[in-house]
Parts: sequence; structure tokens; C-alpha cells
Amino acid sequence: MVTFRRALRLDHMQSSSTMAATAAAARLRAEGHTVIDLGAGEPDFETPSNIRQAAVQALEEGKTRYTPASGIAELKQAIADYIAQETGTRYPTNAVIVSAGGKQTIFNALVSIINPGDEVVIPAPYWVTFPEIVAFCGGVSVFIPTHEHDFRLTADMIERALTPRAKAVIVNSPSNPSGAVVPPEAIRDIAELCAARDLWLISDECYYKFVYPPGRPFSAASLPAALRERALVSGSLSKTYAMTGWRIGYALAHPDWVAEMTKVQSHSTSNPTTFAQWAAIEALRGGQASVAAMLAEYQARRDWIVPALAELPGVTCRQPEGAFYAFPDFSAVLAKVGLRDADFAQRLLEEAHVVVTAGSAFGADGYLRISYANSLENLRRGVENIRALIERLG
Ligand code: PLP
Repeated sequence: MVTFRRALRLDHMQSSSTMAATAAAARLRAEGHTVIDLGAGEPDFETPSNIRQAAVQALEEGKTRYTPASGIAELKQAIADYIAQETGTRYPTNAVIVSAGGKQTIFNALVSIINPGDEVVIPAPYWVTFPEIVAFCGGVSVFIPTHEHDFRLTADMIERALTPRAKAVIVNSPSNPSGAVVPPEAIRDIAELCAARDLWLISDECYYKFVYPPGRPFSAASLPAALRERALVSGSLSKTYAMTGWRIGYALAHPDWVAEMTKVQSHSTSNPTTFAQWAAIEALRGGQASVAAMLAEYQARRDWIVPALAELPGVTCRQPEGAFYAFPDFSAVLAKVGLRDADFAQRLLEEAHVVVTAGSAFGADGYLRISYANSLENLRRGVENIRALIERLG
């Protein structure tokens, strides 16, 4: 019998807890149960038909071969044009790289700059993948808790956490899991701090388009040139165009950084899927009505679910300004019934077949992340089931 021994660098890596929740939901469905999945970080909409048709056309035209590792020139141009239209900043195409989703973008970005022992400042609650990639690189995550400050990240909070080993700061606005949006002035202050302290800024903007009025999307691409040159803007088509399975993300950054990321990509996955790249051009250049329709639908759901959660006994829920997650504080309920957030989520799954993600997975014990990328009817049933569990336990 062979004993498998994994590499040391994976000793502390956890499987993605959000993906584990999706797998648990799939298992229950396979057993014949009706599952209300409020765990998935995935739009419940179809990819718009113009994008699907563009992929079919690309396949018919034989766009099925390798492309340059960093993506086709036409898509890089479309990304540069899109960012210019959104922000007024024109990046040259050698400052653009296309990857297999925003996740690969962040991976390439960190692998290209982090040496063992380097510190990466990450506001908490955070997307589960950030610290895992930092650890994979041999780096150290320095977390800044924001939940006790109403999720309001400021440059001062970051400055207090900096040591001489700090190498980079990650900002994710709108945030997964909290839905909080960092105001443009704060992003600018953070970028100035990065300039003053010789740090790289990674701005994960995969929910960029999902900011609810009166708020407006803001990209680090809008920063003045002197601040922008040390910022990497990470974007994704996954959420914006309901294209999660297509695996198209991108980064805009200093051309030298992009060159290193391209090197990593050329020896790992090579190019993102060819016909998905051609479809991505249609997504960015075609009509944008579907994005506005999705935003309006998410807003209607948010406006229903946040007050509904806040009405649960012992629960408070802050209004998320973006993304499609509510992040209610269950700590009073959990203290009363003597459970941890993960136990509560597990009971909800087993007893009511409702999937939610425990806040502890995101560095915020006592919270639950509830995705409202689901129908209003399912949201209603989900909240009813949560109420019933609270009553049963209490
Ligand atoms: N960044 C954040 C904050 C996310 O929530 C996600 C997906 O859930 C991603 C990046 C990566 O998405 P993708 O790899 O599908 O582009």
C-alpha cells in the first residue's frame, strides 16, 4: 500500500468552504431532497443569449486552438476599451492579462510578488481564497477586522497593521462576504498609503458592477497615474455577466507585473478557453441591458431579505451596498443556544435543507453569509426555516 504524503506547502490549505457547501447541497439533491441554496456565490441567471451565441459562433468558426497564454489581442483590447469607458483611464494592452477567472488572476498576482515571510494585509471578513493563496506563496496574512467597525475599512486601520515585512494590501469592494463598499476617498487614501510605504495594492473588483444606487461603482483604475502604477485591478466576467462556468477574468497592472503573471500562466494553465475569450468580447462590447436587469433584481431581493433577517429575534443585519450577499450577525442567537456559526449552518443544512455559509470561514465568527442570488420565493422559505431553527433551539 502506498502512503500518500502531500507537499508541506499544502499542510495548512483548507478546501474552499463555499465550494464545500455547494457540494453538500448537491449531495442532498442527489438524495432527492429539495434544497434552498443560499450558499453559492453564483448568479442564478442564465448567461445572456448574445454571449452564448457568440460562443457558438466562435466554435463554428473553429476558434478552438491555443491562443497566446495571456489571451487574444482582441479581448485585451476590448478589456482596455471597457475600462477606458468606465474610468477614463486607458491602459496599454501589455498591461492587460486574461485568465481563467478572477481566482486565477489573484493567484498569478500573488505568486508573482510574494516571497516567503512577506506580509499581505487583508481586511476581514475576507474572501476565503485570499489567505489560502498567500499561505501557498509562503507569505503571511495580516488580518484587519472591520466587522466591529461596521465593515468600514480605512487607510488608518491598514497603517496600524503595517510592519516592515508588509508587501501588499488586498481590497475587495464590493466585498464578498459583507457586501460592503469602500468609498472612493478611502480607496484613494489606501493607495496613497501604499505609495508612501512601497506596497502593492490588489483591488479585487469582481462585483464592481453590482453597487446599488445611490452608490456608484468605483475602480482603482480611476486613481491618478502615480497611485495606479502600484495597483493591480482584478476583474471578472463571472458575476457581471452570469458567466461563472466560462472562466474568464482579467487583470490590469504594471506591464512588468503582467509579464511575470503571464510567465506563471504559460506554465500552468496556458490560455483561458479560446471560444470563451471570443464570447467575452461580445459580453464587454455588446448590449449591457442584462447587467442592469440583474442589478435591479438583486436590489429588490436585498431590499426584501435584509429587513427580514433583521426581524429575526437576536439578529442584526447591516445593509450591504453591493454584491449579492447579506451578512447578518447571529452572535447573540448563537451565544443563547450555545452553538458556533458552523454548527448552526450544519443544523440548518441537515434539518431544513437550507445552505448558508458560516462567517468563521471568512474570518468573522458569529455571522452567516446568505447569498441572495436566488428567487424571492426561495429567500422567503430560507428565512422561514432559519426562524424555525432559532425557535426550535431557543
Ligand atoms: N474574488 C471574489 C471576492 C470572489 O467572490 C470570487 C468568486 O466568488 C472571485 C474573486 C473569483 O471569481 P471567478 O474566478 O469566477 O472570476
